[in-house]
Amino acid sequence: MVVLLGSYNGWIVALSFAIAFFTSYQALGLSKKVTSTSGFINWGWLLVSGLVMGCGIWTMHFVGMIAFHLPMKVEYNFFKSSISVIASILASLLAFYVTGTKVSHVKLILSSLLMASGIVTMHYVGMSSMKTDIMTISYDPILWTISVLIAAVASYVSLRLFVEMKRNYNNILMKSVSAIMMAVAVTGMHYVGMEASSFWCIDPQFITSTSIENAPTNLLIIVSVVIVLLVLLTWLAQFWEQAMFRKMAYTDSLTGLSNRHAMNEFFRNTPLQHRRMAILFIDLDQFKYINDTLGHDFGDVLIQNMGERLRKNSLDKNFVFRIGGDEFMLVITYVDKNEVITFVEGLLADIRKPFLINNHRLEVTGSIGISYSNEHGDTKDSLLKAADTAMYYAKNSGKNQFREYNDDMAMKISRRMDIEKGMREALIHKNFELNYQPKWNTATNRPIGFEALLRYTHPQLGVITPNEFIPIAEETGIIVAMSEWVLERACLDCVEWNKENRAEYVVSVNLSIKLIESNMLHGITKRALEISGLNPTLLELEITEQMIMNCGEDVNQQIAPLQLLGVNLSMDNFGSGYSFLGSIDQLSFQTIKIDKEYIENFELPTKRAILNTMISLANSLNIQLIAEGVETKKQIDFLTEAGCHLMQGYYIKKPMPFHEVDPWLKEL
Ligand code: C2E
Ligand code: MG
Repeated sequence: MVVLLGSYNGWIVALSFAIAFFTSYQALGLSKKVTSTSGFINWGWLLVSGLVMGCGIWTMHFVGMIAFHLPMKVEYNFFKSSISVIASILASLLAFYVTGTKVSHVKLILSSLLMASGIVTMHYVGMSSMKTDIMTISYDPILWTISVLIAAVASYVSLRLFVEMKRNYNNILMKSVSAIMMAVAVTGMHYVGMEASSFWCIDPQFITSTSIENAPTNLLIIVSVVIVLLVLLTWLAQFWEQAMFRKMAYTDSLTGLSNRHAMNEFFRNTPLQHRRMAILFIDLDQFKYINDTLGHDFGDVLIQNMGERLRKNSLDKNFVFRIGGDEFMLVITYVDKNEVITFVEGLLADIRKPFLINNHRLEVTGSIGISYSNEHGDTKDSLLKAADTAMYYAKNSGKNQFREYNDDMAMKISRRMDIEKGMREALIHKNFELNYQPKWNTATNRPIGFEALLRYTHPQLGVITPNEFIPIAEETGIIVAMSEWVLERACLDCVEWNKENRAEYVVSVNLSIKLIESNMLHGITKRALEISGLNPTLLELEITEQMIMNCGEDVNQQIAPLQLLGVNLSMDNFGSGYSFLGSIDQLSFQTIKIDKEYIENFELPTKRAILNTMISLANSLNIQLIAEGVETKKQIDFLTEAGCHLMQGYYIKKPMPFHEVDPWLKEL
């Protein structure tokens, strides 16, 4: 037996260290993602980091072997070489798994031992793959032990630094130092292990005079392929990660539909100039109410279900976007606009179909606004704004319908916005006015009270009618503060004219459904009575049938305590709703005001019959009846003859400002 003296190629030794460093750096970086992800993605990162580290150790070893020259030809056993790579991959996987989450000191030691065992096993199994009939290897026990210790200690230091970095620093320098330590573990173990090894040849005839490169060509090829694969694997992992990030950034997490970013991207990348595209802006009609009453979790499930329904409906799922809470956008290409209309009608019908969520059967409707590319602009902003405006119109026209954008809408919306802005300012400077219209008793030829009617004059747009500004005030919530002012002003004015005339004229104030919904009616009214000192029996609150139908219970709860104080309740526009007889016995009314439509058409036999029924009904229920909108002497005569003596209308007096009330009363 002859001992063989080996030598090293310094450049390749350096290369082996570089490979160990590069793969450790990449593997540690990849394994860091195990902590920050979950589910199968987590396992994916673990697998990739284990593969990169394991293959890295293996590659380093064989590059190290390529750097090592012996004065005889050496063959490698393919089976053992393969086993060695499996050992290093498995050990790396386990080590990264242990340090994946909640790392304790024990786990860190366990992980280092696993990593070291992988490095050591890989090395010595790799070495044994060189053994042949003519060559054998023996090991120096001390150096062998030192090689194992180096692997364990350097792995520990590396993993410790790495865990520390994950917790606190997360910077490249720390990761590099950690990777250097891992490279020290791998290469240190390898080269000390090589020092521990003695190579023996059984027959000197196989020895050559000069040292030769031991690595056979196929080993060189395999190592090169593995290195290329490693680089590719890390690139692929990073590419995949970026793709995932991109997908996450462009996907709505609740519905899985494309989100607002994706929509922006869509408009950036789609040339709209030469295409016929319809932009559909969809908004659910009752979503806020559902969210408030059934809870946000329920609302989320509804949005998910709705998203799924829209996705199924759309011709191309990439063209459905969730762009806000309950707002969706759908883009469709078309040849003829009729196609769009048919599609939208089908869509609305589909949205209306009931959902079954947590055993609740739920029916929701949607409002859709449509804009067309080129016709309404060719940029995202112009098309979205147009579709949004049209959607707004669909909502204001009663919901559960669609509207195609037209320029008139924009003008109306801008007027609406001007009025809203103006009213907000008017609220601050108290720039509203109250007009009063007398309620007249034909039996005594004297007024019994006045109805307060709000007036608003916009600084630029001029006088705005209540029929225009009240709905805007209701929609924007301005009505609550507005009503507070009206109630207070009306009570103060009532006190004033009664003082002047030593009389007890009643003041009636119109209420808004929004005031009831805000739950502030009771407080606001009490405050107005306190501030003005008005006797509560001289205040009358007018509510409509619509309010009773929509929130009768709330109205009752808030009005009943006021009625106990003596405040009167009046049913306004009686007969204009759908269930007018049914609504009378829901609350205790002192007055009913017949809608002016009946007075205007009193000559029609049907209206006359209904008027007569109303009059006898009010008499038998002992409720005061007031006819609204009296404009002619004929109307007065008919009403008086039929038994209705109280009335209000232009024939008697048009609504007048407060300063005219007193002179008017004095003239009577
Ligand atoms: P309303 O409560 O039915 O008020 C009666 C409306 O009929 C008033 O219109 C009044 O000017 C008008 N009117 C009175 N006599 C005649 C007549 O002989 N012929 C005709 N054609 N109309 C007559 P106005 O002032 O434009 O108010 C419209 C509506 O705005 C009111 O209807 C009321 O619902 C609402 N409104 C007015 N002021 C307030 C307010 O302070 N708060 C609330 N919530 N709503 C108000
Ligand atoms: Mg009224």
